[in-house]
Parts: sequence; C-alpha cells; structure tokens
Amino acid sequence: MLEPALPPDEIERLQALYRYDVLDTPAEEVFDRITRVASALAEVPICLISLIDGDRQWFKSKVGLDVRETPRSISFCGHALLEDGHFIVSDATKDARFADNPLVTGGPGIRYYMGIPLEVPEGPKIGTLCVIDREPRELSESTKACLHDLAMMVVREMELRMAATTDALTGALNRRMSLRLISQETSRCARNPGQTFSFAMLDLDRFKAINDTWGHDAGDLVLESVARACHSCLRGQDTLFRLGGEEFGILFTDTPMAEAAEAAERIRAFLADQSILIGTEMISVTASIGVAEHREDDVAPPALVARADKALYEAKNQGRNRVQVAG
Ligand code: GH3
Ligand code: MG
Ligand code: MG
Repeated sequence: MLEPALPPDEIERLQALYRYDVLDTPAEEVFDRITRVASALAEVPICLISLIDGDRQWFKSKVGLDVRETPRSISFCGHALLEDGHFIVSDATKDARFADNPLVTGGPGIRYYMGIPLEVPEGPKIGTLCVIDREPRELSESTKACLHDLAMMVVREMELRMAATTDALTGALNRRMSLRLISQETSRCARNPGQTFSFAMLDLDRFKAINDTWGHDAGDLVLESVARACHSCLRGQDTLFRLGGEEFGILFTDTPMAEAAEAAERIRAFLADQSILIGTEMISVTASIGVAEHREDDVAPPALVARADKALYEAKNQGRNRVQVAG
C-alpha cells in the first residue's frame, strides 16, 4: 500500500482549511444535498465531502458510509489532493497502490474511486468531493463534468458561510457572531455551575485623527494591524470580533475577570508599544478597553456587552489608553 505524500503547500493548505472552521461541525443539509445528487448522478452507493486534516480525513457530508473519519494514511482522498483535475482508480484490487488497503480488503470494499479536489480561491486543496463504488466501473465524461460542477458548489458554499461570519478587512468574526458565541457560552455556564467567561470591548483612541491625518486607506491598514496584534496576544480558545468601525470585542472562554483583565492589559501595552509602518510613516495607535465577566443572572448577551461597554466608556473618560474592569 502506498501512503499519500504531503503536498508541497501542506502548511498553507491546513491554514486554509482551518479558516473555514468546518471540521467536527454537525451535518448540514446544503452539503448533504450535494452528496445525494452526486451519488444519484454517478449511480454509486457512496459519496463523500472529505476534508483532509493533518492526520485524518473527516467527512462533512457522507452518503452510504457510517464512519465520520478515517486515518489520512489509508485515504484515497489524500492521493486525490495531489492531483490537478481529478483522480480516478477504476479497480482498486488491480492497483498496486491500493490493492492491500484496508478500505479495499475490508469495509467499505472500495473498487471504483473518483475524487475531485476542493480547491479554495487562494489555491490550496482542502479535501475532495468523491464518489465510490464497490464494483469496478467507468463514468461518462458528462457525469465527470457534472461532478466537477458539484465540487465547485461545495467550495462556494463554504466561502459563503465564511463571508457571512467574518469581517473582510481584519479577518475577525463579525458582530452577529459575537452575539451567537456569547449566547453559546452563557448556555454552557448555565449547564455547568461554577464555570465562567469574560468579554472585552476595545475601541481605538482618537482614530478619527489617524484617518484625517493619513487618509482612510492608512486607517484601514492600521485596523488590520491592530487585529493582527490582538490575535498574537490571545490564546487559541479566545475569539476576536470586529463589532464595527474601530471597535473590537474579545471573548475569553473559561476565564474569570482577573485573567481577562490581564490579557486585555497585555493587548493594550502591545498596541501602545508598537509603531505601524504605513508607506514611509510610522503610526502609533492606543486603545481603551472595558472588561466584564459573565454573571449567572445575565439572561442574554446584551447584558454582558452593556457592562463591558460601560467600562470602556469609563476608560475613555479617565484619559484613554487604559483597561477598566466593570464594577
Ligand atoms: P475616541 O478616542 O473617543 O474613540 O475617538 P475616535 O476618533 O476613535 O472616535 P470616533 O467614534 O469619533 O471616530 C471613529 C472613527 O473611525 C470615525 C470613522 O471615520 C473611523 N472608521 C470607522 N470605520 C472605519 C473603517 O472601516 N476604516 C477606516 N479607515 N476608518 C474607520
Ligand atoms: Mg475610537
Ligand atoms: Mg468607536
């Protein structure tokens, strides 16, 4: 058996995959519709949307298969990923690379395989749309062309989902997502007494002056740079949002006030210390930050957000470039 090689752009590939935030999410009808159509079109019992993670292939949608993932080392899709266009195995039992593969010798008993790489707009291939049969076979050119169209629809759907949740300029999640994730955290804390989380609101100081002095495009570059700086200061489980204009939110999961305030102070100090090179100019920007902790009597996200906002307002009034915790 031949294990699939790693593509030359493996790191960029994984980064692209993780940006979609789709691994280990529940099945969704939009994707299941595509695999149903593909398996009917190709008249095969198995169709998968397979996403290739570092050491596994995980199925966002599947027809005719019970498992949710398999090791990448035995995957056909790991091979398909290395191809431009599509990858076809007409009869796996007669192909030295796959004849002794456990997916051929055991369940699901793959004979025919066709995988079309899911190529994202920046170039990397994050997985495949594949059709599988337990008998050797051939597909017509017109069927293959339709499968290519369906693979493009998978990528398009993932792009649309990302655009609906993400701010294009900074890559931070949008305000709508902040409310959704705060709701999720609130429910988690309700189910697990004693757990908590915190939320911070960050507003750039005198940002209008930066636009007025250096221009709106320079202002945009500063916003991008601030988002990068925040990301570099945060832990993996914390989430950055662009709430609007020059205002950001940070969700600190599983974090009481004191720790969140420390993290906010790290971000404040980092921003105050850094200069951002725009053209030939070095621009500095500071931020004021308000931090609030979840309370059990918070019934909805706005209560927590309002406390963080009030603390932010106090930080502004006390002279800016500071962190204020909610009382
Ligand atoms: P304060 O310290 O009180 O927050 O002062 P400020 O100047 O930051 O506050 P104000 O709300 O008066 O101004 C915010 C400015 O942010 C005004 C607006 O032009 C600018 N802004 C909002 N969104 C964007 C954007 O997407 N790009 C750029 N370049 N500027 C933006
Ligand atoms: Mg401001
Ligand atoms: Mg503002």
